[in-house]
Amino acid sequence: MKKFAFIGLGSNIAGSESTPVDQLIAALNKINSSRDISITSVSSLYKSKPIGLTNQPDFINAVIKVKTNFCPEALLEVLQGFEKMQGRERIIHWGPRTIDLDILIYENLKVSTQNLKIPHPRIFERAFVMLPLIEIEPSLSEIYGYKSSNTLENLANQSIVKLMDNNWENWRVGANLSDKI
Ligand code: ATP
Ligand code: CA
Ligand code: CA
Repeated sequence: MKKFAFIGLGSNIAGSESTPVDQLIAALNKINSSRDISITSVSSLYKSKPIGLTNQPDFINAVIKVKTNFCPEALLEVLQGFEKMQGRERIIHWGPRTIDLDILIYENLKVSTQNLKIPHPRIFERAFVMLPLIEIEPSLSEIYGYKSSNTLENLANQSIVKLMDNNWENWRVGANLSDKI
């Protein structure tokens, strides 16, 4: 696997799973069983209040780092296939969803087509992306040259908490991620 990417995961509806956390785990299992993607880091879980459309359940979010053979366009297509398999519907923009899989960063690549923007344009304004991202990749600020302290200060008013979940921790331990780097 030649390229690295960061993927943001989010859910606030259990759908056919028991909980939104299980939706995130189901997505991890799909991603990791792809022959052309392997997960190398998994952040903690974070719970935050919805932004935009506030009258909906709290969101569960995490960020993973992967190695992949897919180009960005193919990676997006695969991730959207997984979203579909997990019952993702797009009815309301920024509305409730079983699973959302966004490509946050792909190498140091910039992409700006109608279907795909990389880096994801709203990374720096979202605590639920920045906190897990910096947790698994503290050196990111050097790569992208943004002032992480300023960015994090600006995000301090967003309500977000780290969540402990046994299923999530068990997945992280069972996946032997350090063996795969
Ligand atoms: P947001 O993009 O603000 O997080 P969202 O995730 O709710 O909102 P979606 O309805 O999931 O938005 O996606 C809308 C479209 O965004 C997708 O069909 C996809 O083509 C496009 N898109 C552009 N850049 C990306 C990216 N980096 N990762 C995932 N989708 C992207
Ligand atoms: Ca999103
Ligand atoms: Ca999305």
